[in-house]
Amino acid sequence: MTLWIGNWPVLGGLSGTLVATVMAGVTFAAIYSGYAEELDHAAENSRNIVRLLSSDIGRNVELYDLSLQAVVSGAQRAETWQLPPEMRQRVLFNRATAASSLGGAYVLDANGYVRAWQSGAAVPAISFADRDYFLAQQHSPSVGLFFSKPYFSRLRGGVPTIGLTRRINAPDGTFAGVALLAVQLNYFQYLLDRIDVGPNGCAFVLTQDGTMLASKPPGSRVVGANYADSPSFAIIAHRPSGTHTGRSIVDGKSRMYTFARVGNAPLIVVVAPAIDDILAPWRKRSGFAIAMTTLIGAAWVVVSWALAFALRGKVAAEGELMRLAMIDGLTGLANRRALDRRLAVEWQRAVREREPLSVLFFDIDDFKLFNDNYGHAAGDAVLELVAGRIASGARRATDMAARYGGEEFTLILPDTSLPAAVKIAEKIRKKVESENLEHRASSHGRVTISVGCASCDPPVGGSGAKLLAAADRLLYEAKEGGRNQVRAQQWTGGEGEPPAPKGSGTGSPAGSQANLQAGSQAAT
Ligand code: GH3
Ligand code: MG
Ligand code: MG
Repeated sequence: MTLWIGNWPVLGGLSGTLVATVMAGVTFAAIYSGYAEELDHAAENSRNIVRLLSSDIGRNVELYDLSLQAVVSGAQRAETWQLPPEMRQRVLFNRATAASSLGGAYVLDANGYVRAWQSGAAVPAISFADRDYFLAQQHSPSVGLFFSKPYFSRLRGGVPTIGLTRRINAPDGTFAGVALLAVQLNYFQYLLDRIDVGPNGCAFVLTQDGTMLASKPPGSRVVGANYADSPSFAIIAHRPSGTHTGRSIVDGKSRMYTFARVGNAPLIVVVAPAIDDILAPWRKRSGFAIAMTTLIGAAWVVVSWALAFALRGKVAAEGELMRLAMIDGLTGLANRRALDRRLAVEWQRAVREREPLSVLFFDIDDFKLFNDNYGHAAGDAVLELVAGRIASGARRATDMAARYGGEEFTLILPDTSLPAAVKIAEKIRKKVESENLEHRASSHGRVTISVGCASCDPPVGGSGAKLLAAADRLLYEAKEGGRNQVRAQQWTGGEGEPPAPKGSGTGSPAGSQANLQAGSQAAT
């Protein structure tokens, strides 16, 4: 995992970002569902309030109508008018007293004058023939229960009122007046005052044509004014009940309007809590959740990227360390540890594939004397030069040049037979010789190398290390033979017998070839 992220830090960072994004997505989805739930809950609450209000109004309208019907039936009986005033009063208005918020109950004659009224006090000579509740009943015998527009009472000092009337017929069916119940608008106001619509909420009772009867907060709308032009009313007017969200034309606040018609009356009840009030608790809760999610998510993303790139640095550093652990600092060739590993691997492969394997062992001739004469720094330069010449012999990807230690080098040549390996060894020896680097103390007068070359085809028994030991022995023989030469041998396992020393040791090609032949013969 560490290695994976270290090698592909962008993928590591992207994975972290993806995880944070998914987590944020889940949180935001939960927050959004909380938002929708809050609105649903508010709508349900409003529906319950509207239902309660309209059923209260409906029940009272029923009571008003029963009272009116009692007044009508009393007024239509001729005997009623023969009764003494007190008795007549009781017959006509007994039931009307049961209804609440009443501004009064009246019997108006065919000309709109009060013929009898609930209080029984002296009747002022005012005609109400101009009122809509009178005119409607006068013009049609089939109106039934009529709801007037709101008006200011002339008899009760201008109290805002709506009139409910029913027609009184003469025995022959002609218009004989109306029974009137005056209902004070404070009845509706009282109803609205008892409900809670939040600090910025509203509630209204309107007539079907948009006339305001009562509003909450009180005075926020003009009682008696017509709101049929408002965009909300346009929606309300066309449906029996429902919920919609809109912006108020009065104060510009967004509200959720829930409305319903009162079953038996041309009235509409509206409850409209403000969206801000509905969402306030949700905003408080989700604000914190959003802030935390964003903060933690961002931190997660930053840490993911930082970690991914830190791991890349670590993996790169480890890789570099491993590389350095396998390389010789002075020459840049593989070191002893890398040589041992590769040699074991190549030996196994050669055994498996039944392929030849050759190793060359190099040693700089009289190098101690070189150091003594020219100093260690010059000696190091020679080491580097010789290392370069040996490395140039490693032409295949599987060939490997290494510094064995001191002034000793090796070259592993997989899938290389003895003659080819000798050619390579000889080429490298010549390259060093032809550099003509002065070495006064050497018998050759210049820097030279000796090479031991051991080859097996196919490798049987033994190991890579033993093959290398065989090459080392051949190197020793090259030294013995006069240095600056190649000694080679086909190795067949075991410790092997040192070949009879042959060759002049002058490093001439003929000498090298002779040694190769001698080596080969010794092995076979
Ligand atoms: P021979 O021809 O028999 O190999 O003689 P030689 O003097 O080369 O062999 P010997 O093993 O006696 O000496 C090897 C010398 O190599 C000893 C040491 O001074 C020198 N040497 C080993 N490592 C280094 C190195 O890293 N830098 C330098 N300048 N000299 C080194
Ligand atoms: Mg040596
Ligand atoms: Mg040496």
